[in-house]
Amino acid sequence: MYELNHAIEIAEDIIGDRFGISTSQWKRYRYDIRSLKDLKEHEIVDSAYAQILKYARHPDLRTTGSEKGEYFKICLQDHVILRTIDNHPELKLLSFMVYVVTHELLHVVRFARFVQSFYASENERIKEEALVHRLTHELLRHLKLPGMHETLNFFSEKVQVETFKGGGIQR
Ligand SMILES: [Zn+2]
Repeated sequence: MYELNHAIEIAEDIIGDRFGISTSQWKRYRYDIRSLKDLKEHEIVDSAYAQILKYARHPDLRTTGSEKGEYFKICLQDHVILRTIDNHPELKLLSFMVYVVTHELLHVVRFARFVQSFYASENERIKEEALVHRLTHELLRHLKLPGMHETLNFFSEKVQVETFKGGGIQR
């Protein structure tokens, strides 16, 4: 998608610096970031910029019974993102994408390190969302990117970034 690879590069760099994750170590975090064209019907929502799903195994990966193949699929909702950019002329797509991807990767890192459970209660999830917004803000606040300041302002209004598909692992 539009600007996606660039946004992932920036986000992995910034989070890697902060949490001491090298490029090769990123491979141990099992996640995929996909845009709308690569989503199945149940992965598409209209109310969030992204949706995180936890799958039992990666579709491209052949795992044996004992091997853990669990991974997170970050499903970007292009239609919601583009609609927001259209409605807010002060926003720039790349900085907006950097915010969304950084925010999502922070969730993934926290899930993977068991700092936060994927199957949190609604209440815990609200707290986690506020915390991840704060972390994202802190990480991006000094990034010199056109429209970043406006993006940070936009998300400081307690906008929810994503939904989680809970209630068991999707297969
Ligand atoms: Zn979030």
